[in-house]
Amino acid sequence: MAQQPHTAATPTADAAFRSALDVVAGVEPRIAAAIGQELADQRASLKLIASENYASPAVLLAMGNWLSDKYAEGTAGRRFYAGCRNVDTVETIAAEHARELFGADHAYVQPHSGIDANLTAFWAVLSQRVESPALERAEVRNVNDLTEEDWARLRHELGNQRMLGMSLDTGGHLTHGFRPNISGKMFEQRSYGTDPVTGLIDYDALRETAREFRPLIIVAGYSAYPRLVNFRTMREIADEVGATLMVDMAHFAGLVAGKVLTGDHDPVPHAHIVTTTTHKSLRGPRGGMVLCTSELAEHVDRGCPLVLGGPLSHVMAAKAVAFAEARRPEFRTYAQAVVTNAQALAEGLLRRGGTLVTGGTDNHLVLADVSGYGLTGRQAEAALLDSGIVTNRNSVPQDPNGAWYTSGVRIGTPALTTRGLGVAEMDEIAELIDTVLRATTPTTAANGSPSKANYALDPALRDAVAKRAAELLAPYPLYPGVALA
Ligand code: PLP
Repeated sequence: MAQQPHTAATPTADAAFRSALDVVAGVEPRIAAAIGQELADQRASLKLIASENYASPAVLLAMGNWLSDKYAEGTAGRRFYAGCRNVDTVETIAAEHARELFGADHAYVQPHSGIDANLTAFWAVLSQRVESPALERAEVRNVNDLTEEDWARLRHELGNQRMLGMSLDTGGHLTHGFRPNISGKMFEQRSYGTDPVTGLIDYDALRETAREFRPLIIVAGYSAYPRLVNFRTMREIADEVGATLMVDMAHFAGLVAGKVLTGDHDPVPHAHIVTTTTHKSLRGPRGGMVLCTSELAEHVDRGCPLVLGGPLSHVMAAKAVAFAEARRPEFRTYAQAVVTNAQALAEGLLRRGGTLVTGGTDNHLVLADVSGYGLTGRQAEAALLDSGIVTNRNSVPQDPNGAWYTSGVRIGTPALTTRGLGVAEMDEIAELIDTVLRATTPTTAANGSPSKANYALDPALRDAVAKRAAELLAPYPLYPGVALA
């Protein structure tokens, strides 16, 4: 008998979802239909996107209300708008839960997304670095006393706007200093990567690069690295070169909250500043957050108006609910199961002859190199999707196919673990993935070489896999009480 899933609602919550859809349908039925269809699609497929999850009914319902109508620029107790007492309550409770959950000095729960959290953190570090010497020299206590000329001089004096982050092809994120993102325009960027043989972060090479490059900020954290990161070592390197250590734990925040990542692998005690999204393994609403030491708190709290507008008060309410859920003992069981499932999936793929970057996983994701099947990541992603298995293509280190076609597929377990699936199902899923990838062949492009995008897959095999995927999901209903028209 399947466990009662986290998404199971009470009859009241089911009725709330149904009524909400009826109300929306009364104004724009196509939107109500799209919302309903999204639930139907999510119910029907094996969701293995490493950055996705299923939030609880309480989290989802906390977002659909009149808190959304309130402007509340500023921070709790210091607002630029009148009438914010309820938003103050919501923000204070969310921050309290976050501090307790992660053991942080300070939590700023306003960022609308992971990118916003990172921007807030970058500006906080820059402004702290600019202000500290200035405040000492000018003997002023308040940054607002600095003139425009002071600022210009200080920016010039500071000179160093260098960032050292994990390279994109070894698992870093665009916001860690890469060109297409504002961080790559704000900062001169240098990357660290992984050892070409083991696939693990090469801390010695990182230290060498840091010594030579002298970054202002070292960014740790990733979107597609399947192993543990030693944040103690990262902090030692940052201290040696006078850099600020920022950790973007967007992907693994749930594993930190669930106490699977502890000691040297928990970023909070080691980093000066930690950013995260709240909607991935942490299983909250779509949003971001910054945690930091007390020295940085005042700078982080200036996220609005520096880079954010009015906070999304309804989302802060949902963050508070999600953090309260993550403080329960069940969340630790969940977080451990996410990793156990990822390891079972990895073993299942390896046993069937698959190739995994680093040869396995210690966290919530597996990075499969699909070149051994003669496919690009793009072909593998599409063939799996056709068969009811949702993953996403991803570069592997030194990827010969570049960031668009790629040679890898990233596979994550946070969502299916929420749904209740366990190690036995993970092994079957590995079988389904392997079956689809073996049966998929690239078609020939106009110039006679194998296409990087198009492929052929026997429809009968595709349908059989999709049917088996649906059977695997059947005992684990998603939002089970919500019946859709
Ligand atoms: N940081 C990391 C490590 C991520 O993986 C992501 C998103 O995938 C982000 C930041 C950005 O988050 P958002 O999409 O909420 O802006």
